[in-house]
Amino acid sequence: MPADRWGFQLEQTFSTLPEAMFSVCAPTPVKAPEVVLFNRALATSLGLDAGTLDSAEGAALLAGNALPEHSQPLAQAYVGHQFGHPNMLGDGRAILLGEQRAPDGQLYDIQLKGAGRTPYSRGGDGRAALGPMLREYLISEAMHALGIPTTRSLAVVRTGEPVFREDVLPGAILTRVARSHVRVGTFQFAASRQDTALLRALMGFVIQRHYPELADVDPASQPLALLEAVIDRQIDLVVDWMRVGFIHGVLNTDNVTLSGETIDYGPCAFMDSYHPETVFSSIDHQGRYAFANQPAITQWNLARFAETLLPLMADDPEEAVGPATALIQSFPQRYGEKWLAMMRRKLGLFGDDPVDQTLATDLLKWMQSEAADYTNTFRDLSNEQRPEGTPYDSADFRNWYDRWQARLGRNSKPLKSSLCLMRNNNPAIIPRNHQVEKALEAASSEGDLTQTRELLAVLATPYEDSPDKTAFKSPPAPEERVCQTFCGT
Ligand code: AMP
Ligand code: MG
Repeated sequence: MPADRWGFQLEQTFSTLPEAMFSVCAPTPVKAPEVVLFNRALATSLGLDAGTLDSAEGAALLAGNALPEHSQPLAQAYVGHQFGHPNMLGDGRAILLGEQRAPDGQLYDIQLKGAGRTPYSRGGDGRAALGPMLREYLISEAMHALGIPTTRSLAVVRTGEPVFREDVLPGAILTRVARSHVRVGTFQFAASRQDTALLRALMGFVIQRHYPELADVDPASQPLALLEAVIDRQIDLVVDWMRVGFIHGVLNTDNVTLSGETIDYGPCAFMDSYHPETVFSSIDHQGRYAFANQPAITQWNLARFAETLLPLMADDPEEAVGPATALIQSFPQRYGEKWLAMMRRKLGLFGDDPVDQTLATDLLKWMQSEAADYTNTFRDLSNEQRPEGTPYDSADFRNWYDRWQARLGRNSKPLKSSLCLMRNNNPAIIPRNHQVEKALEAASSEGDLTQTRELLAVLATPYEDSPDKTAFKSPPAPEERVCQTFCGT
């Protein structure tokens, strides 16, 4: 199939699934589309023509006023456990235009978020405000630059229409790019229909799209093999979040992708000073999705996924409970091993040594007692000299530091390699809430994108430090501290 003049070569594989899984529906045109941010590098990697799309005419397309060739827009059905309780959901304001066959041979969902009402909108207006869409663009692209699997952001366009929330806000649409938007909640939806053929079709879709190595596994073993592969991919993801101090904030089952990409940048935030119980989301009153709870919540979400697969695992689902439970119960050990390997990289440790676990947890305990900045502490350790000044001038820290140095001395590789490993795993720059909020406020209320663009530029190379980045490394002053983040729907 030849590309259209934008470079789109859209396929429609999701709509080969049974009709229950989606509703055909088109974006609702908006008044005055205008490109606010456009991701040229991503466009090019998708085989799109950046020059043609980043234009007034392109804005109409990115707002859903015009459609690419071969687009058959649809909204996907899903449900989800939100804060532990099941809810009917589905794409209430997101519309899938199609799946782009990129030059790397992979398919990528092209989805407009904020594109108008769908059959799943319930009481919602199907729209999105500029601030939260810029936030998703900024943080998802920062995550990508950090090397963490994530949905991507191709563009933000203003709609020229107001959206009515607590305030009247400028409306916007984000073009979200994902390896797919299939979530644990998509499987929960299929399972709720009690239609084994539907579930099997969805499993086939996910295997083909995300786990092609399982295509040849004998069909009876496939569901369990998929469960194991998804568990491993989710563990890799949550370990990456723990590495950089990312708190997702709404780790509901509808926000867990089968691809292993981070999705839904609502109330997420990066931690400044280290505390395992850190929570930002205004709606997370119990701390269910606190920083240190993320692995356990991921295991809980995966147990919900496992339940959906039981009817595919055996004719009598009761027989499948044992093996599925055993896999879910292996989560803590699998996670623990990968977490420790990650901490070794953060601490520049090669090989394994019995002291490593304690070395890592003792550092975290010390950071917690000092409310030390998570990012800056690890980065300070990534220099050759012992860090000085507050909070490093304490006997406790020196004691830890000496033990760490002794362990580094037992490394199989030279110090230079350790420092290099550390600098590749400990970012110098993260999207700090106080800076993100300031930039978004200027963009949303004054239409001034200067700070947003500056942030995007420094966040593109988060592991590279340089004197001109100093301002972006500062933790918030007490009066700048952002204590709560909002979903921004
Ligand atoms: P989210 O918090 O973005 O994951 O959304 C949760 C659910 O609410 C999903 O089904 C969304 O599609 C839906 N939703 C969120 N905002 C809106 C809106 N403004 N209009 C319609 N549906 C929405
Ligand atoms: Mg969501």
